[in-house]
Amino acid sequence: LAHAPSSTIRRHSRQRTRILEVLRSTTTHPSAAWLYGRLKKEIPRLSMGTVYRNLGILEEQGLVIRLDVGSASDRYDATVADHYHYVCERCDAVIDLPLPVDTSLAERVKAATGLAPRRHVLEFYGLCSGCAGEA
Ligand SMILES: [Zn+2]
Ligand SMILES: [Zn+2]
Repeated sequence: LAHAPSSTIRRHSRQRTRILEVLRSTTTHPSAAWLYGRLKKEIPRLSMGTVYRNLGILEEQGLVIRLDVGSASDRYDATVADHYHYVCERCDAVIDLPLPVDTSLAERVKAATGLAPRRHVLEFYGLCSGCAGEA
């Protein structure tokens, strides 16, 4: 990037800013493909590779979390404070749970093993209310 003209660098950081803004505007934990579809009209130069690259940088910067919840593609979350998710096994909806993070789990791991986890990730699986209604 050292030889890139400054206009190119500005464009790249603007694309990254927009990706982060769109991600922060939704609670649906979208995939990279969804973000691409959402921004393609506004940023015609955008490519899937650019979206992935920018998401990777945002993840390194601690501004975004990548979730592997077993659906076809990774999902992205701009809520970076530890929180739990509920994943719909039918439609792949990923829902934030309004539960406090249970710090006693880390204490139980330490008591059982002597290991000291810094954090933990917990996902619940079942049907979302929309899918449960259809069942
Ligand atoms: Zn569902
Ligand atoms: Zn979340």
